[in-house]
Amino acid sequence: MNQRIQGIGMTSRRTRERMVARIREQGVRNELVLDTMLETPRHIFVEEAFASRAYDDTPLPIGFNQTISQPYIVARMTELLLEHGSPQKVLEVGTGSGYQTAVLAQLVKLVYSVERIYPLQQRARRCLQDLHLRNVRMKHTDGTWGWEEYGPFDGIIVTAAPEEPPKALLEQLKPGGVLVLPVGDARAQVLQRITRSENDYEVETLEPVIFVPLLDGVA
Ligand code: SAH
Repeated sequence: MNQRIQGIGMTSRRTRERMVARIREQGVRNELVLDTMLETPRHIFVEEAFASRAYDDTPLPIGFNQTISQPYIVARMTELLLEHGSPQKVLEVGTGSGYQTAVLAQLVKLVYSVERIYPLQQRARRCLQDLHLRNVRMKHTDGTWGWEEYGPFDGIIVTAAPEEPPKALLEQLKPGGVLVLPVGDARAQVLQRITRSENDYEVETLEPVIFVPLLDGVA
């Protein structure tokens, strides 16, 4: 691994160990998720100027008015997605920096990730290439509509908040599949996990969260 990816000082493995210890204290228990976050260089997914803060427990700007999600939230959503069974094919709506994508790509067989802001998608693509993660397919599109061509999915994770769970995403879940997403308006959002059974959906409402809104169309 080259030094940029390996990290040094505030971007070193030592710093990642502290990040993972904090996430564990916050209640995340899935060791596979924690190990993956220990191995994934989060600093390459943030702008150079913020690299030294990449492992703080906070969202950070990634340009275009968007943010890379807080490490705890990435861990929590991934844990919720993986909790029952081992999803093979996962759709991510809102690639953003690509960090959540990279974590997922190491835990499931195939990741489909869609993003509405083209330059962000391009940057994420380069980061995933730098990490030699080849099991990710990306598309520049409005993810409110999912990615029907490759559905249905075992799991769907949405990293921007709609006011209601998008119907197309519910439809693109396999029976037994789970949708993990923030739901709400700019003032109040909650994390939900929606599990599809043969002919129904079970909704679990979890903790309060803060995400950027899920927007229509592409940019
Ligand atoms: N998981 C990302 C989160 C980025 S923020 C990370 O940690 O970096 C949420 C992202 O969702 C933004 O990049 C935003 O552009 C994108 N987004 C918002 N609405 C969208 C939509 N309808 N379709 C696809 N992407 C969307």
